[in-house]
Amino acid sequence: MQVLFLSTTSKPEVWIAPLSAALPDDTIHVYPDVADPTAIECAIVAVPPPGVLTDYPRLRLIQSLWVGVESLLNDRTLPTAIPLARLVDPGMTETMTESVLQHVLNAHRYYDTYREQQAAGIWHQIQQVRASNRRVGFLGLGQLGLAGAQALIKLGFDVAGWSRQPKEVAGIQTFSGPEGFEPFLARTEILVCLLPLTAATRGILDTRAFAALPRGATIINLARGGHIVDDDLLAALDTGHIGRAVLDVFNVEPLPTAHRYWRHPRVVILPHIAAETDPQTAVSQVVENLRRLKAGEALMNVVDRAAGY
Ligand code: NAP
Repeated sequence: MQVLFLSTTSKPEVWIAPLSAALPDDTIHVYPDVADPTAIECAIVAVPPPGVLTDYPRLRLIQSLWVGVESLLNDRTLPTAIPLARLVDPGMTETMTESVLQHVLNAHRYYDTYREQQAAGIWHQIQQVRASNRRVGFLGLGQLGLAGAQALIKLGFDVAGWSRQPKEVAGIQTFSGPEGFEPFLARTEILVCLLPLTAATRGILDTRAFAALPRGATIINLARGGHIVDDDLLAALDTGHIGRAVLDVFNVEPLPTAHRYWRHPRVVILPHIAAETDPQTAVSQVVENLRRLKAGEALMNVVDRAAGY
């Protein structure tokens, strides 16, 4: 099979060697070096420029190397009849779980407050709260949210999750749909956002959502910047209703130097590094989808375009 590789986010050499080794019978063409676009049947892409995929009339699969596919779905020229598969990478799930544990434990044990106290030369012990009395909530109980939630359950935390469809998950208090949103927020002291960015979730963390959280709640956004209305978060931080925000993702990346987040004392800024795709573990997922495509079998992780994820 003739395969196109196009990544605007990572260097081709990171992927081409493991992909070529795993696909010895296929030919991989690195964009834009494609002699015959009509021969290409599969495109392996990471955030391709809008419109580019219309040049390949015999495409049968668009395989994203990114977990979130909102930029592909925002491309109105993306051929609608061709299945779009997102990446589900076990290596990335592991590293995202590390990020969840890091930031939830930091909030739970007041790490940033102790750093502030150190800077001010203050020796003050804050009373500890047991994990079983700490209410953590996950917006999104999918591949990444569920893995993070389950890791926290093992540590004894009181964990809840919110999803689009109702779910039953052992050890997790589950909420779903618009009617479950505010009750979920009302019981959540540490909020972890791991939603996909869709029409329904863009701007979901706004003044109304912040008001529904208990005073002093921590926001940990590891999903996309577009979930947060920045002015609303800054206002909620300024009043102290939101205690702290750990932000890995932003509406504009890199975060512009003039943005108020940079100087806000209770915002932690991370440069979109919660979890990177790991070619070592991701390649096998891509290879399996190509095998299924050739065999005419059902593809894995096909995006529901109506739902947007
Ligand atoms: P996923 O498996 O598709 O799970 C998405 C979860 O969100 C599901 O539980 C889904 O509900 C829920 N959801 C979607 N729309 C909703 C709505 N309108 N209302 C309530 N719940 C809704 O996605 P994932 O693999 O966990 O990835 C989540 C996101 O993480 C990605 O889309 C990406 O943007 C982000 N991400 C960030 C980084 C980083 O480095 N910062 C790295 C990787 C991924 P159902 O269970 O009912 O379907």
